[in-house]
Amino acid sequence: MSLILPGSSIGILGGGQLARMLSLAATPMGYKVIVLDPDPNCPAASVCDEVIAAKFDDVIALEKLASLCDVVTLEFENVPASGLAILEAKVPLRPSAKVLEIARNRILEKQFLNDIGVETAPWAAVRVMDDLEPAIGLVGLPAILKIATMGYDGKGQTKVTTLEEAQAAFSRFGMDCVLEGLVAFNLEISVIVARSSRGEVRAFVPFENAHANGILDVTTIPANIAEPLTRVAEKMALEIAAKLEVIGLLTIEMFVTKDASVLVNELAPRPHNSGHLTIEACPTSQFEQAIRAVCGLKLGNITPHNSGAMVNLLGDLWQNAVPNWNAAFELPNTHLHLYGKLEARAGRKMGHITVLGESVQEARDAALKAREALNS
Ligand code: AMP
Repeated sequence: MSLILPGSSIGILGGGQLARMLSLAATPMGYKVIVLDPDPNCPAASVCDEVIAAKFDDVIALEKLASLCDVVTLEFENVPASGLAILEAKVPLRPSAKVLEIARNRILEKQFLNDIGVETAPWAAVRVMDDLEPAIGLVGLPAILKIATMGYDGKGQTKVTTLEEAQAAFSRFGMDCVLEGLVAFNLEISVIVARSSRGEVRAFVPFENAHANGILDVTTIPANIAEPLTRVAEKMALEIAAKLEVIGLLTIEMFVTKDASVLVNELAPRPHNSGHLTIEACPTSQFEQAIRAVCGLKLGNITPHNSGAMVNLLGDLWQNAVPNWNAAFELPNTHLHLYGKLEARAGRKMGHITVLGESVQEARDAALKAREALNS
């Protein structure tokens, strides 16, 4: 067992809001944090010890990160395989390149899940135009065509209702895709699992997620699902993390269908937007748990204190004027997080608000009210 103790240095691939919040968890625990990101003014820059401003395929920068750090983790899974190999030759990379290779490619990911007996939406790989017709035969129409790699926040995917639409979308995407059957889900949940380098594993309670325009909009806990289904989702998540041999965090996005079965949509080998409310809602946040997991420390208690809700703040809120921050602070239970991004673009995640409450409805209503107040 390799124990990485305070005073050691943790490297993070990517310097966005997830790295910022990882750093905000690691620094008070006594760790140094070094971030690799192409942007020297990335969101993590103001809260970490050093930014190596370089591209993710910059060999010299990767070697520098490896030489300065005792462990490297990530907020971004699309670092080229050659870069990951450079790191892994010199320093523990957690999660490993093998996990990242599977989790960042929808074809490998779905294949892995089905191979271990986990159900997904019906799907077929589409690598060339001629794959589309048999794929539609398999999954039916309407369906969703998704790029196999690099998609995020609903980008790189489109609903298709005819073969012609699917062909047009495939040539527009111009890369390997998966065609997925449309799932009639009741709700979407995510389960975040931490698995430490000493093999300890823990799953946060399922979070319920509502999306708007393909982007996470509101997360609430506890999810509105019956206790047995909660157990099914948690067991499934723990099993996937164990089979993948993840060290660090693994987020499993799931659909709960109308007939109360659970299908896995997607894996993310890192902290996740749906887990942001753990900062206030749980004794150990997803970010602290990630640090504990990659450093081989005992995992922390994650039983939620209360019900809670998180709403995302997208750049659209800035459209007419700078949001009215004071109006949000006037509401007593509002926790505001801003990521320090200089440019507010439509659809860009700029921050979030979390509110805890005695019930989900109370917390959600208060969080939505706080967001509305920003534009008052
Ligand atoms: P993804 O990028 O795969 O996480 O998809 C983004 C969002 O699109 C999901 O959170 C769902 O709301 C929706 N979605 C994705 N795949 C499907 C599907 N097969 N059936 C129904 N909705 C889907």
